[in-house]
Amino acid sequence: MTPRRTTLAVHAAQHPAPDTGATTPSIHMASSFARDPNGELPSRHLYSRISNPNRDQLEEALRLLEGGTEAAAFASGCAAITAVFQALKPGDRVVCNSDCYSGTREILNDLMRNWGLEIAFADLWNPDSWDASIVPGTRLVWLETPSNPQMRITDIRGLAEHARSRGAIVVCDGTFATPFLQQPLACGADLVVHATTKYMCGHGDMVGGAVVAGPTVPDLFARIRKIQVHAGAVPSPFDAWLTLRGIRTLPLRMKAHCANALEIARRLESHPAVAAVHYPGLASHPGHELASRQMAGGFGGMLSFQMRDGEEAAARVAAGCRLILRATSLGGLETLIEHRARIEGPASPTPRDLLRLSVGVEDVEDLWDDLEQALRPETSGTLR
Ligand code: PLP
Repeated sequence: MTPRRTTLAVHAAQHPAPDTGATTPSIHMASSFARDPNGELPSRHLYSRISNPNRDQLEEALRLLEGGTEAAAFASGCAAITAVFQALKPGDRVVCNSDCYSGTREILNDLMRNWGLEIAFADLWNPDSWDASIVPGTRLVWLETPSNPQMRITDIRGLAEHARSRGAIVVCDGTFATPFLQQPLACGADLVVHATTKYMCGHGDMVGGAVVAGPTVPDLFARIRKIQVHAGAVPSPFDAWLTLRGIRTLPLRMKAHCANALEIARRLESHPAVAAVHYPGLASHPGHELASRQMAGGFGGMLSFQMRDGEEAAARVAAGCRLILRATSLGGLETLIEHRARIEGPASPTPRDLLRLSVGVEDVEDLWDDLEQALRPETSGTLR
């Protein structure tokens, strides 16, 4: 019997302790593991940069949830992203979605160009861009779907087939969707990357990342594993434990995030001060039909919207929120609002009138009350 995903979230990597029967894992804070007089290690663990019981449990759960063959946990989403690019060789060409997490763009532009990678950005959500951007010699195609922050939807299966015909592999940053809503490996992606900081942990109390591999890229994953253990950007045992605990409630939380986000998106769409709402659950979203096929169980907790009166109006709405927190990050229980272009800096391609919402699990009427009062010009504030 193969457990369904909700059951997997609750039980994956659950191994009651043989000595105590404890149903939840102990936290093994040890950096080192003692040998017996014969020099044997009682478990396969030697040193916690190389492996640790809590990291093992987290990696097992991530692998099972994504339907992958192997998983590596990192100290942040960006460490996971960097490890994938560092596993490439100088001269390799990478094509990245032009709407992507700004940190991914920075890693590519600020670090990986020096590594010798050839880097191009393309509107990968538009299949018309594939031919010109994924030219022969392309080694890796990087997509995010839904993308951060403009919520573009890319056809993972179609892109994976196209990339494969050009000899390239596909990596999907699945942070926004989580394995509960979307299965990139089953759609043909070779690797999935997560900022586990976000929905996986779900409580905003740790920073972590992961790479999960399908069966198609064993050599590349072996290099990623080497980068993990040699370079050592690994999660602490406590962070691994927190992430696994968060995963236990991922399906429950995602249902609440999805329901609240859809409701807020619908209400924002009919608000006169709002010019556009980007949420794949809306019938008006250009990727709605594709998202309905590619995602299951909902469209996620992230949305963005643009204000009719431009950047200052957007800044005033963020400043006017009283319950919703003005903070970066996403995927926690509480709703966060952010003016992405100001956070991303002067080179940001994000529209200046755009606000991003990480919709939390509060009562949706309280969220709407707050947004509605912030959207009224007379009650909104000023944000520098
Ligand atoms: N991927 C996406 C889509 C993100 O939104 C983020 C962070 O916001 C990351 C990766 C990086 O994660 P971390 O902040 O844990 O390094």
